[in-house]
Amino acid sequence: MSQFSRSYAEARQKFLTAARGAGATLAEFPHPTKRGSAGEDLAMDVAWTGAADARHCLMITSGTHGAEGFCGAGAQVAILEDASLLADCEATGISLLLVHAINPYGFSHLRRVNEDNVDLNRNFMDFTQPLPYNTPYAEVSPLLLPPQWPPSDVDQAQLMKMVAERGMQWYQAAVSGGQYQEPDGMFFGGDKATWSNYTLRRVLARFGAGRQTLRWIDIHTGLGPWGYGESIYMGPDETGQVARTRKIWGSDVTSIYDGSSTSANLTGLAWLAVPETLPSVDYAGIALEFGTLPVSEVLDALRGDHWLHRHPEADENQRTLIKQAMWKAFYGDTDDWREGVVAQVTDAVRKVLAEK
Ligand SMILES: [Zn+2]
Repeated sequence: MSQFSRSYAEARQKFLTAARGAGATLAEFPHPTKRGSAGEDLAMDVAWTGAADARHCLMITSGTHGAEGFCGAGAQVAILEDASLLADCEATGISLLLVHAINPYGFSHLRRVNEDNVDLNRNFMDFTQPLPYNTPYAEVSPLLLPPQWPPSDVDQAQLMKMVAERGMQWYQAAVSGGQYQEPDGMFFGGDKATWSNYTLRRVLARFGAGRQTLRWIDIHTGLGPWGYGESIYMGPDETGQVARTRKIWGSDVTSIYDGSSTSANLTGLAWLAVPETLPSVDYAGIALEFGTLPVSEVLDALRGDHWLHRHPEADENQRTLIKQAMWKAFYGDTDDWREGVVAQVTDAVRKVLAEK
């Protein structure tokens, strides 16, 4: 499918071309300091379709988790090329706010985290307050990122023993829940708001101010069954809000608060930027999470990537193997998978139209 790309630069070009083709208004937020893996410019790009003064806005975002952006960016291009969908949005009074590459550094460098080794979807914390300490992460951390990669048999056996004793769910929550104590570790939430964090707030303020409603579909990959898009509730832990979100996107919307999601309970999620930036807007949102490989394989790919981050002296062969594992963990590289992504994202957009 021509909408999808194999590099950040290619994805960016396709997004800008499709946005111009759709007559969208473009805005560019260049990264102030970093370059891409091939030396290219990095930016968060924004396309706005429909009336400038629309009361209703549907935001669709890609690349919150860097390398996961190959999926979301392809879906964004498909939406921009879908003339009948765009016409239906306009007829319903909904403008689309498409944000390409919230974390362009991770997108280009095939990392899930950003230029600061920060997981952006754990970074929306109040950094004036004491940060939580993740005790299970501290227990498992030395085994996650051992001195050598791939891990020695002894290290791997010790980790497997711990997982067998405590369970896969404990392991996933310990590793992925978010931690604020180990800056070069995994799922690190940072110690301050990152560039992507405050730039997303600028996007929200510029394009969201004065709207009556804001709906948000944030596209992710790496959890759940191959090709299946799980709609995960993105909002406060309030049953009324969860119910309202299920009314829009269906009763199969899962929640990290009641254990119905494949995702663990997390801290510092990006949706928190909405009420903080636009306190009076009527907001509802989901993460659309597309499955790739089994969770243990995805976590192993991330372990390798973080090991590489700690070991820049690694040789080219090892670097290539680790990046290939990252690509496979966060992108389903088959036409079936890509077609399923476009169909499911389009369906999620149509559900927002049906709400009106
Ligand atoms: Zn993600």
